[in-house]
Amino acid sequence: MEIDNNVNRKEVETVVRDLMEGEKGKEIKKKALQWKTKAEEAIKHGGSSYSNLDKMIEEELHSIQRLKNQQERIIWRPSPSGNFTTKSAWNAIRTRQGRVHWHNLIWFKGLVPRYSFIAWLALREALQTKDKLCEYGVTNDGTCCLCELHIETVHHLFFHCSYSKVVWNILLSLLGLTFNQTQNWPQTLNWLCSHIRGVELKGLLRKLSFCAAVYFIWQERNNRLFCQESRSPTALAQTVIDQVQKKIGRNFEIKDNPSLATKWRLHAAFFHPTIFWCKWEAPRPGIKCLNCDGSVRGDIGGAGFILRHENGDILAAGAIGVGVDAILIHKLEAIKEALVFAKLKGWERIEVRTDSKFAADILNSKIDCPWKALVAFFDIKDLISYFKELTIFFVYRQCNQAADFMANYLNRVDKVIFESNFPLDLLRIVEEDKRGKLTIRV
Ligand SMILES: [Zn+2]
Repeated sequence: MEIDNNVNRKEVETVVRDLMEGEKGKEIKKKALQWKTKAEEAIKHGGSSYSNLDKMIEEELHSIQRLKNQQERIIWRPSPSGNFTTKSAWNAIRTRQGRVHWHNLIWFKGLVPRYSFIAWLALREALQTKDKLCEYGVTNDGTCCLCELHIETVHHLFFHCSYSKVVWNILLSLLGLTFNQTQNWPQTLNWLCSHIRGVELKGLLRKLSFCAAVYFIWQERNNRLFCQESRSPTALAQTVIDQVQKKIGRNFEIKDNPSLATKWRLHAAFFHPTIFWCKWEAPRPGIKCLNCDGSVRGDIGGAGFILRHENGDILAAGAIGVGVDAILIHKLEAIKEALVFAKLKGWERIEVRTDSKFAADILNSKIDCPWKALVAFFDIKDLISYFKELTIFFVYRQCNQAADFMANYLNRVDKVIFESNFPLDLLRIVEEDKRGKLTIRV
């Protein structure tokens, strides 16, 4: 039943009468009664909602029961460790919004917080520039204090002002960039995003210089406005260069772009990347080798394992496809499934190898297990007690390729364990491992 915007008294009366006494009203009442009956049925003992609630409680009780032998403790759910941190509290209460497209310009590894903060305010147009102060009635002087010619807006102050242009020209030539300074604000932002990027020395220099330049231009504007102090644009550009040099020289190992490093007078010590070879190693005599891995692909999580004889021959391989969870959970799930299988077979001496240092450290009790992985953790601990000899090692990913293959084997929620008729690609990896194939690790 609808009523349009230009409604008059008569029309309202007609609609209400129709609803109370007319055919449409009867029809609506009939439907409402039908819904009421359905709702009553759903919440009755054995009804659909009742069953869902029942199922949920049963599942929760199941997981509680599995942890019942452990000491009770309070868990702070927003934090992976279960311990309270201010960071996790902040993340729990704040409303997350999508990242702005210029996010990487400001927030990057190696940033200087005060530079990034001011640059962030500038790009959000949140700095109290004079155009805004005039609008609020705080002042009636909107003139830029750097050039004393134009109205001070964010775009003018940082990019269009003759003073800032001198600063940018010095920096851009050092960075190997040319900027068309006649562009408007959105174009400027797009230009910045497409040129101030990268993670190596070039990208880091560009991002740091950009944020530092915005910071010092803003500082210059405030010094002129409030302290009657000023410096030339070349002096300001030199301050930016000095600060960037200091930050990079002190904190980073410069590994690339020697010509750029020389241009910036960075005392570069160039290191060659360390390359070494690794291979699958056979376990000690009498021990079975168990390689495990987990994976996440789209909406499928995977766990895979391969059990090998000391001579490298394959004994069994398993693949499990499940709903997506944290990669750590899948890696632990792989170890658990493999140990369940080994126990079933009566194999009592096992060497577990995982390419997750985190999982290995958790299981070797070097670090605490995140609360979300506690169920898998205690399951594995229970299983470990069965084995006469069981060690857990971290191995490089390059030495764990057979398990990686099995972790990615299934594209559906399912479980498969091979004890013969192994996949041909798996046999190829196993043969290469047996032959001691070397893989490069950088
Ligand atoms: Zn100006």
